[in-house]
Amino acid sequence: MSGLVAQHIRMEFGTHTAVSDAHFSVAEGEFVTLLGPSGCGKTTLLKIIAGFLAPSAGRILMGGVDVTDVPPEARDTAMCFQSYALFPHLDVRANLEFGLRQKRVAHAERSRRLDSVIAQLELGAHLAKLRDQVRIEIRRIQRTHGLTALYVTHDQAEALSMSDRIFVMNRGVIEQEAAPEVLYHQPRTAFVADFIGAANILPVLDQQPLAEGSLVRTPMGALTMAGTVTGPAIAWRPERARILPPGARAVNAFEARITDRAFVGDHIDLQVEINGLIQRLRLPHCPQAVGEVLRFALDLEDILPLEQGA
Ligand code: ATP
Repeated sequence: MSGLVAQHIRMEFGTHTAVSDAHFSVAEGEFVTLLGPSGCGKTTLLKIIAGFLAPSAGRILMGGVDVTDVPPEARDTAMCFQSYALFPHLDVRANLEFGLRQKRVAHAERSRRLDSVIAQLELGAHLAKLRDQVRIEIRRIQRTHGLTALYVTHDQAEALSMSDRIFVMNRGVIEQEAAPEVLYHQPRTAFVADFIGAANILPVLDQQPLAEGSLVRTPMGALTMAGTVTGPAIAWRPERARILPPGARAVNAFEARITDRAFVGDHIDLQVEINGLIQRLRLPHCPQAVGEVLRFALDLEDILPLEQGA
């Protein structure tokens, strides 16, 4: 498909709203991922775009043309399955051939196209690629041919590594659309902060303006942040904690008692108790054991303001 525009798409199944007011565009040659938990409406939205479902409301435009009422086979789209699903009773060649047979492409033309695809994917040499190799391959083919792609996954690592932009979906609503690094560093809602990476999320009890930034009171204690928060909560990433040497003073300094400690290779995941609250820390090193106390600080920029979500 060339550039894609979805205008106020809504999908209702009886009384259940599976997609609520999805409004976005995907530029020509862009790779966009719909990311969200099971049941959030990703597949429904994709089926509407491919033409397998008629939306309850809204329009789909491709290359500037309204295709909402155009059947799937007449749209310039191809859809593949989230699980890379294949027909188990068919061999690799027959699986690849399936779509062309469905479209009643003549035998000679089918053979020509299949040989070209097999050569392109280097399938002759690697008939059973690993998922992350397939991922790299999909991206390479998409870039080489300048294809516009809308990809669906509930795997955040996959979305982060492949996409130009990610649309994070929750309960039928696109909560944020942004480049992977923006989503990670500036999550708009608690759902996005928690779904992309790990986050400690704290309700804001009140806040006071400072000469620079503001002071927010949370159940963990008072925190100084760079900007202000207009929504109900703030978040901080477990890996942003800076360990303080004994006696060192810092803004946003906390004492934390370790309640759980898991060594996972390149870092250590900790659960700690801070003012009676359990929070998560991710540290490259940690000499302390469970039950011991450490001190850490957070920079002003590490306190992320969150808005109300879906
Ligand atoms: P998954 O990752 O598990 O595939 P998803 O995000 O793709 O999930 P959808 O399959 O789009 O989610 O489903 C969204 C919601 O709409 C779910 O609550 C689902 O039960 C409901 N739903 C989907 N298709 C239908 C249908 N044909 N009739 C009724 N409800 C449906």
